[in-house]
Amino acid sequence: MKVTAVRATPVYVPMRHPLRWSLGVEAGLTRVIVEVMTDEGLVGLGESNGGGELAAAVDDVAPLVVGVDPLEAMRVAKRFGLYRSTSEQVGRSGLYKLAGAALEMACWDLAGKRLGKRCGDLWGGIDHEEVDVAAYVFYRYESPERAGDFSRPGFVAEYALELVERFGFRDVKLKNGVLDPDQEIDTLRRIRAGAGGRVRNLRLDPNQAWSVATSLRVLRQLADLDLEFCEDPTWGIEGMSQVRAGVSTPLATNMCCIAFEQLPATIRQRAVDVVLGDMHFWGGPTALIHLAKVCETFALDLSLHSDRELGISTAAILHFAAATPMVSHAIDSHLPEQSDDIVTEPFVVRDGRLAVPAGPGLGVAVDRDQLARYHALYQARGSGDEFCDPIRPGWRPSLPLW
Ligand code: MG
Repeated sequence: MKVTAVRATPVYVPMRHPLRWSLGVEAGLTRVIVEVMTDEGLVGLGESNGGGELAAAVDDVAPLVVGVDPLEAMRVAKRFGLYRSTSEQVGRSGLYKLAGAALEMACWDLAGKRLGKRCGDLWGGIDHEEVDVAAYVFYRYESPERAGDFSRPGFVAEYALELVERFGFRDVKLKNGVLDPDQEIDTLRRIRAGAGGRVRNLRLDPNQAWSVATSLRVLRQLADLDLEFCEDPTWGIEGMSQVRAGVSTPLATNMCCIAFEQLPATIRQRAVDVVLGDMHFWGGPTALIHLAKVCETFALDLSLHSDRELGISTAAILHFAAATPMVSHAIDSHLPEQSDDIVTEPFVVRDGRLAVPAGPGLGVAVDRDQLARYHALYQARGSGDEFCDPIRPGWRPSLPLW
């Protein structure tokens, strides 16, 4: 089997409500859906995070994949290993890495389809058919379907408990760095008090919005809540290291360490306890398999980051999580906040878990009408800018915010 052609389609899918994060508002998700064609008629599916620029990058790097036998999917990962953070590649390494992640994912999908094996079984062997997912709770703005002050601590705490009731989540993550830290402490305490024994773990994610001093103050005040971890309270490996030295709360990251070249300093400076691997930032399935071994070697925990994936990437993440014992915390997913999908059988959280698809390869198929619909939406409106806040036009993000 040989790859003959590649097609990249950017899509935009709105969120059910505009979600606030420390540096702006997430109103939707922009993804590139990659289809890899072969001489045997099989088509492999991949997905990555980006829009038209990423689709163009996929076209640029297609020659690295055309002619490859998808049964040799790691050959694709090896070819894309060239793209690192160097002066010569500063303008393209990020995009090419994201493109490589989608193309490698599609080759694994093809290999699985050809062999009649599920991707997770090619990546170490699926150990369990369901993967724990954490509730993802946001401060929000009004949406057409629901009015109200969604950024009030009391409302957000009630909404968190609503998600726990409706979807059976056992773990709750608050996306914060949005309100004054004292209001966010109030939010967390309300969630903890309301949840009782129904919630196993609480975690928070200010996305680097706090200074080192604010991080130390807030995390010390929250010490009695015994947080599972705090993601990226402050910016950079050095800042994270200073915070970690002063608190008992474990720290996690999907921001200060997103590439192998950042691991040595992260580990030497004891900046984090948990690496939140991202199927796309790190470069694809092979990179995550290698990351899991590094985490095991250096006694770091591993879990998986969500960047608002659609069904193809969600499938890849589930296969990896189900096959990797090092994934020891509930993974993140924005699915309950996303309005729609481009796969024929969208994923649904049940009893706090997502099921690993049963079919060969990634086990998902594209709904062509949905793909066309959300490609048209992308063409009509573009990606949007999550680093601004339409409700506060004069506001601009900066670090630290608090
Ligand atoms: Mg994060």
